[in-house]
Amino acid sequence: MPNITIAIDGYSSTGKSTVAKQLADWLHYLYIDTGAMYRAITLFAMEKGFISEDHFNKTALIDSLADISLEFKKNNKGANEIFLNGRNVSKEIRTMAVSEFVSPIATVSEVRKKLVEQQQKMAEGGTVVMDGRDIGTVVLPNADLKIFMTASAEERAKRRYKELLARGDEVTYEEVLENVNERDHIDTTREDSPLKKASDAIAIDNSEMNLEDQFHTILQLAQDRIAGRV
Ligand code: C5P
Repeated sequence: MPNITIAIDGYSSTGKSTVAKQLADWLHYLYIDTGAMYRAITLFAMEKGFISEDHFNKTALIDSLADISLEFKKNNKGANEIFLNGRNVSKEIRTMAVSEFVSPIATVSEVRKKLVEQQQKMAEGGTVVMDGRDIGTVVLPNADLKIFMTASAEERAKRRYKELLARGDEVTYEEVLENVNERDHIDTTREDSPLKKASDAIAIDNSEMNLEDQFHTILQLAQDRIAGRV
């Protein structure tokens, strides 16, 4: 069976990672969550005091990039976990605080260059499902299947709000909606690798789709590509 590379891009909280994970499990492909990598660098910058509500020391972050090592490892349940300099930060990177600072961090070209290189290396063998914002446009421009996921900001905020509540975070729906809108704005207007649909990507609006329908729609597209039928 031919191996293909699958790029899944889209706005925040469109459920990209859920479907990317399902697809990777089903196809026995490697799953790479590139958002987790930007989030881990953000956590590093927060812990070093490089970024806070009122300042961002970009130069200090750029100077420290060589000291950051990121690695994915599977846990005993088969789920991917991300390690920042050897420390498992998979839970910490999902807080609202990290979500607030991640988009400014992701505008820094030096950060992007470091991560894109690592992502391209990880995808070298094919058989990969990668999700993010610039996968189909920059990281894997020759991906065999490109999906671009969208959903209304309100629907995305609702989903993210539920997730955060389930984790015990104290947030309001309004705060989550504001964060979703803010990240959309920064991600689509930044100079380096802005979020946009690759011309050969298939757009899927999942506002009205349940997880199962979404998975089957995308799995069918992947199987068609694998079979060389499309
Ligand atoms: O996918 P997730 O929502 O976890 O990504 C967090 C943030 O990381 C995004 O809002 C975006 O600013 C940044 N990001 C990016 N490029 C990627 C993946 C994520 O700029 N490939």
